[in-house]
Amino acid sequence: MSQVRVRIAPSPTGIPHIGNTRTVLFNWLYARKNNGKFVVRIEDTDRKRQVAGAQDKILEILEFLGLLWDEGPEKGGNFSPYVQSERKELYKKYADELIEKGLAYEDEGAIRFKVEKGKTWSWQDLIHGEISFKSDVIEDFVIMKSDGFPTYHLGVVVDDHLMEISDVLRGDEWISSTPKHLMIFDALGWKPPKFGHLPVIVGPDKSKLSKRHGAKSVLDYRDEGYLPEALINFMALLGWSAPPEVARGKTGDKEKELFSLQELTEIFSIDRINTTNPVFNLEKLNWFNKKYLQTLPVKNLKEKIKQFSKKAKTLDDDRLTKIISLVRDRITTLTDFDKYSAIFFEKGKEKAPEKSKVENAKQAIESITDWDEESISQLLDKWIEEKNLQAGDFKNTLRLSVFADNTPPIYQSLAVLSKEEVLKRIQDAL
Ligand code: GLU
Repeated sequence: MSQVRVRIAPSPTGIPHIGNTRTVLFNWLYARKNNGKFVVRIEDTDRKRQVAGAQDKILEILEFLGLLWDEGPEKGGNFSPYVQSERKELYKKYADELIEKGLAYEDEGAIRFKVEKGKTWSWQDLIHGEISFKSDVIEDFVIMKSDGFPTYHLGVVVDDHLMEISDVLRGDEWISSTPKHLMIFDALGWKPPKFGHLPVIVGPDKSKLSKRHGAKSVLDYRDEGYLPEALINFMALLGWSAPPEVARGKTGDKEKELFSLQELTEIFSIDRINTTNPVFNLEKLNWFNKKYLQTLPVKNLKEKIKQFSKKAKTLDDDRLTKIISLVRDRITTLTDFDKYSAIFFEKGKEKAPEKSKVENAKQAIESITDWDEESISQLLDKWIEEKNLQAGDFKNTLRLSVFADNTPPIYQSLAVLSKEEVLKRIQDAL
């Protein structure tokens, strides 16, 4: 049996959005599952639409997600045989061969492929089953442009052949190009790879996924504090589902939705890719991110938060740890840390309660000698009892005088600050 070799063939005409990166993930998983190779090839033959730096950004996405490639260019733009513009001469040779065979012809400086009428081109799509096109609906098409670069159709066929690609998994938007590719494979006497076209992701309103649905790049999500684990898990379930025996889990009660890249590698298969268009749901991504943030060990979470928050970096380790343990269940992305920890840096805007209540709170705080969470709770509870106060009201007074905003449990929140800071804030309230 020949080896599985798949590729992604991005054009550096921009930074791909998350929907396109899901195609990358599926290729990568398919390669890993089958002990195959995952190849990155840069299709940069459309010179006019090139975006400077896009190639490196694409590679950066893969690195961030941990979807490393077995063959392909390196970051930094050094010479690479996996970049089409670096292999330019090659394509001309095959275009000339087609002319010699009488299967292509020159036209205004370009070279066109001659489409034979009356034929049907079909393939067994790995996802959709049999697909066929009548050649009569396809016009002669350009394979070499007058600028000396091949078009996508010629470049993709020559390279998929020379790079011995066994399976092409790409978006549905390429389906109508596939018959053209089959014609070129046939004309050059080559065996085509297998093709599988992934249903295109749509927005919740079923229209083409766009910016307003959250179709940003993975790098944008990274910068907004999403974890690679969450993005991977989210993308994997866009149009693919785990086999029922795995999804049901051992207990059989709750559906399992959290899958690591390692697990996905073991259970991924093309036959569980849906033929319907998956719907992009940002809330689901947020849910995954929250879940993964909750399961991160505090030490790792701390490091990540420091990368996102300048304020976090100013805190001593003990205080940062305390704040993280108080806010970690609320944060959806790493950037949320600043939002939920703000009260520990600065008071909020809510109005202080009446003076007598604040005075009472001040005395209560002053009575605490050992300033740690346990003593704070004990002494304040005792205070409530002895003074015959309403617990809820007393705690609310503390909250308003010290934080003037919503807080995690108040005693724990007080323990984050020093006694002096708390008293100073109460003094301000007075
Ligand atoms: N260069 C094409 C793209 O930009 C590749 C499509 C394919 O996978 O054949 O996505």
